[in-house]
Amino acid sequence: MALERTLAILKPDCIRKEKVGEVLRRIQDAGFQIRAMKMITMSKAEAEGFYAVHEDKPFFDDLTDFMSGGPCVPVVLEKEDAIADFRALIGATDPDEAAEGTIRSDFAGSIQENIVHGSDSPSNGQKETGYFFPEHEIVANTANT
Ligand code: ATP
Ligand code: MG
Repeated sequence: MALERTLAILKPDCIRKEKVGEVLRRIQDAGFQIRAMKMITMSKAEAEGFYAVHEDKPFFDDLTDFMSGGPCVPVVLEKEDAIADFRALIGATDPDEAAEGTIRSDFAGSIQENIVHGSDSPSNGQKETGYFFPEHEIVANTANT
């Protein structure tokens, strides 16, 4: 077990559906510590930079339109095994394939509008965290937070 950081983004559909509170409740109930959080609206270029790994995919233009089409909430989360545990909590990309009781199964409307992002490796967790938050905006891990 290793203490890891993952970068979550509550996507624009989550904000539109007013599910921010419910999704954060589930995240906290699952034992994740919130270390940083803000609400922003990404520019098209910021969304393209964030999802650059998908730039050759057919859904890239739609995805970056969606992600820059309204406010979203990037959140830095910390927990033992945060990467794997967070992806288990949110479920598969396609809500029709997501396990019952996962966030995407319960709230997502489509494979694109799937409520929440989660980093897919510890190194991407660090890299994606840095995309939105300088280190001084991330609160320290203390015993009572
Ligand atoms: P995320 O990276 O957002 O946590 P993920 O790792 O489950 O999601 P990826 O394969 O990295 O899935 O795809 C990134 C995002 O692109 C998905 O969350 C979804 O919003 C969108 N996406 C993925 N596949 C498709 C598709 N076939 N059609 C439309 N949108 C898609
Ligand atoms: Mg991904």
